[in-house]
Amino acid sequence: QIQKRNALVTGANRGIGLETCKQLAKLDIHIILSCRNVEQGETLSHELQQAGLDIVFYPLDVASDSSVETMQRFIENQYGRLDILINNAGIFPDAQVENVFTCSVEQLRIGMETNTFGAFRLCQAFIPLMQKNDYGRVVNVSSGMGQLADMGGGFASYRLSKTALNAVTRIFANEVSQNNILVNSVCPGWVRTDMGGVHAERDVSQGAETIVWLATLPEGGGNGLFFRDKKVIPW
Ligand code: NDP
Repeated sequence: QIQKRNALVTGANRGIGLETCKQLAKLDIHIILSCRNVEQGETLSHELQQAGLDIVFYPLDVASDSSVETMQRFIENQYGRLDILINNAGIFPDAQVENVFTCSVEQLRIGMETNTFGAFRLCQAFIPLMQKNDYGRVVNVSSGMGQLADMGGGFASYRLSKTALNAVTRIFANEVSQNNILVNSVCPGWVRTDMGGVHAERDVSQGAETIVWLATLPEGGGNGLFFRDKKVIPW
């Protein structure tokens, strides 16, 4: 009997991450909803279970090595494998930074720690669990603001962290030799969330659409690529 696919979503207590959990659960995928705030995670998972969705909560701070290790042990012991990893957790560290000349290296480090190294830690911890099972989909939630092809000024920490995240996608994609493990980046567009603000053009359901599509990509559907609206875009 084929078991249900499972998916781990990071930073899932609100915004695009939470919506991605709901959309994936509606596709009959078992969801491990993760976030830093335990109380929020427990309340949310309880509500979603009441609504009939197959969602459990487990805490995760992507900026902490030990938290990622604890999550890895939990998933290995509980399921023996992971099918889908959504690296969604992210911060926008530049709100108070005027320009690149006043952006400290520490500011860059803060952006990298979560947006880049967070996803890196998760890829390292979970792609081996995918390799054991010869199936895996990794979706790194990046941003057009990290696109070298269209790089503007401002927001240096965020931009660099997302450009580097796209490089992380590329490197892992190229080191995985199994055909049925796909590692891709996605720009969700400008989405109305705490980060995107109220003036953004998309709602969370549109923001999550291409993430969910990549999470369920068929074999041969693309590897080491950057997508927006289900189309490949330049790095
Ligand atoms: P939100 O600010 O609403 O959500 C960000 C989520 O990331 C929160 O759940 C937050 O949790 C979590 N998070 C931050 N740091 C950590 C950490 N160390 N460990 C675990 N979780 C963490 O933003 P969005 O939903 O908009 O953002 C989701 C992703 O989409 C981000 O990667 C963002 O960069 C990307 N994106 C968003 C765009 C937009 O227009 N909204 C555009 C392009 C990309 P907590 O509550 O604990 O802080």
